[in-house]
Amino acid sequence: MSETTYHEMWEKLNLDLPAHDALLAVLGKFYGDIYMSQQGRLKGMEYLDFVLSEVHGLRIKELQEAKAAGRKVVGAFCVFVPEELTLAANCVQVGLCAGAEAGTELAETLVPRNTCALIKSFIGFKLARICPYIESCDLIVGETTCDGKKKAYEAFSEIAPVYVMEVPQCKSDADRALWRSEIVKYKARIEELTGEAITADKLGQAIRLVNAKRRALNRLAALRAADPAPISGRDALLINQVSFYDDPVRFTTSVNALCDQMEERIAAREGVAAKGTPRLLLSGCPMAVPNWKLPFVVEGSGAVIVGEESCIGTRNTRDLVDETAETLDDMLEALTDRYLKIDCACFTPNAERQDNIIALARDLKADGVIHYALQFCQPYTHEAFKVEKALTRDGLPMLAIETDYGMQDVGQLKTRVEAFVEMLKA
Ligand code: SF4
Ligand code: SF4
Repeated sequence: MSETTYHEMWEKLNLDLPAHDALLAVLGKFYGDIYMSQQGRLKGMEYLDFVLSEVHGLRIKELQEAKAAGRKVVGAFCVFVPEELTLAANCVQVGLCAGAEAGTELAETLVPRNTCALIKSFIGFKLARICPYIESCDLIVGETTCDGKKKAYEAFSEIAPVYVMEVPQCKSDADRALWRSEIVKYKARIEELTGEAITADKLGQAIRLVNAKRRALNRLAALRAADPAPISGRDALLINQVSFYDDPVRFTTSVNALCDQMEERIAAREGVAAKGTPRLLLSGCPMAVPNWKLPFVVEGSGAVIVGEESCIGTRNTRDLVDETAETLDDMLEALTDRYLKIDCACFTPNAERQDNIIALARDLKADGVIHYALQFCQPYTHEAFKVEKALTRDGLPMLAIETDYGMQDVGQLKTRVEAFVEMLKA
């Protein structure tokens, strides 16, 4: 499809074309600098490069075609939104990215200035009319995770079709009952949107499909335990980012093909960095497209990233939904249990996250952990203290970073990361 035809499509979606063109130009340059400059990339990354180059083109065209065929598009900002139910109702689910600084001034007319960059980004993208995904959505599903998000959805619902799921803050039996009822309510809402009843057969298929995607991503994550590291952290992050908006079947096939190449590389004892290069685990807030700043800084400082303990990483893929359930009711139970295992910092207490970080760091043979939190993110900045204590007790060094989507602090970040990497080498 030609660029001109994409312009027609974007115009129909009511995008601000000059602002959108400017965003694509910046994104293209950023991608070139951060991704195409890497050495020794796996051949299978060409698929990811293609998907990203068509992020606002071909994939949006596919969404429009799905809509023309009667399917609905559902957007989500959080891994608590059960994709299995969305797919079982024959909808397409897309993760809305919110990883770039855009429309910040506009966003600050709806949410306070001391709000995290992710929230400002999704409000800014909508107000500036530069996101074809948001504009394609028939429904956007929010959640009451952190205070910033739940209040932001109140404002967002005035400008977009929003439905909010209530995520409990603890994990007692009463909280589980609440979450179970929220899953049932979401099922009813999505059935109302589509006019399609979710049957055990459809939900069972959707559970297996999403599990297959998670299994492929877990396979990729486990292969990163090899030294030399078979893939860069930047590429692995990109794969996890793309998992939220690509077609799930096509994506799973591509990731498994990439894993085959990684296995060949591991067998040949080859990698993207020399054996013995300091290995770091990133942990904390999710890094949405195109938030590649910290991985770029880390891998430009003599280290290699071997894992992401985040919702755009293993926090989203680690747990599978039990596939043995046969009735609709048992499947809803299985979904309830699986989603309540997510160890988001919004929960209190949340000790399992510390255990999970240590286990992941050990599995991936990480030499240290970089804890990443967005500025003004209360849940993750609070947990950084506890995570550091737990890691220190376990003999794992940690560096706490708080940043946003701006580029002003790149020099300062580089200095701190380089010092941390030097300390690991000593
Ligand atoms: S960190 Fe928490 S709020 Fe953010 S996407 Fe993950 S589960 Fe949702
Ligand atoms: S980064 Fe923190 S403050 Fe921002 S939406 Fe996520 S949990 Fe909330």
